[in-house]
Amino acid sequence: MIPFSLAIHGGAGTILPELLTPELEARYLAALEAALEAGGLILKANGTALDAVEAAVRSLEDEPLFNAGRGSVFANDGSQEMDASIMDGHSGRAGAVSAIRNIRNPISLARAVMEKTEHVYLTGKGAMDFARSIDAPMEEDAYFYTEHRYQQLMEVRDTNQTAMDHNIIIPDKKFGTVGAVACDSNGHVAAATSTGGMTNKRWGRVGDSPVIGAGTYANDRTCAISCTGHGEYFLRTVVAYDISCLMEYKNLTLQQAMEEVAFNKLQPVGGEGGMIGVDAKGNSALVFNSAGMYRGSLTANGDKMTAIYRI
Ligand code: ASP
Repeated sequence: MIPFSLAIHGGAGTILPELLTPELEARYLAALEAALEAGGLILKANGTALDAVEAAVRSLEDEPLFNAGRGSVFANDGSQEMDASIMDGHSGRAGAVSAIRNIRNPISLARAVMEKTEHVYLTGKGAMDFARSIDAPMEEDAYFYTEHRYQQLMEVRDTNQTAMDHNIIIPDKKFGTVGAVACDSNGHVAAATSTGGMTNKRWGRVGDSPVIGAGTYANDRTCAISCTGHGEYFLRTVVAYDISCLMEYKNLTLQQAMEEVAFNKLQPVGGEGGMIGVDAKGNSALVFNSAGMYRGSLTANGDKMTAIYRI
């Protein structure tokens, strides 16, 4: 039996102690704890890494503090479109959705694409038609609306720029795309990522989060990775698969491979953000080149950690 391991993130960016009140900080840490609990319960009961990452991400999607599911950021046209993906390192199967609206838990729709269709990736109207065909739980626009997110859009709407929601400096602002990676007691790994994308994004813009190999990747021979950051850079750098390749072809450890990509590939071209990873031996790593990253991890021997800033 392999000692299980779980890591989660709730987004990276300009997250500095002076920008968060102690109350807000406590709420973030509690939300991260709850997600670790949701995934950890499954892993403790010898459940699968795939079930654990879905459960952890659902918990983060239901929490309006994070930019995924409820609390997703607004696009330029005032809509909220969400993207998500999930990958099972054991079977090599993957599922993804993008440009979806009103879906309560995008990560579960991504999993349904993986398990109920012969495809990997459904987008827009096709993804919504599929969601209706399987009776995926939906919510009214009001469920997803948060005043702070709307204010964030107002801040940047006329600038012609997109922004990681963590980088729009509004007091009491909300941060982050969410993700989870896990290694279960059978040594199988899985990864899941879910996001509302970038504030003020153009209608139809899709980032790295739903793209297998960029924002999400899992392979039992190497690792499971979930990313967060400025998606355009993560797409061009093919971040998650590159980390796996560095392990597979150059024999780097998980930590080395993640640091190589975060600091030597992303940072020089201006790609701000971070990523979480586990390997099939139960090692985990949480790496970011931004000021902070909402994050947490849990291991079979009971070690639990949640953190926000660079330590
Ligand atoms: N990577 C996400 C995107 O570009 C944003 C984020 O991680 O905050 O859509």
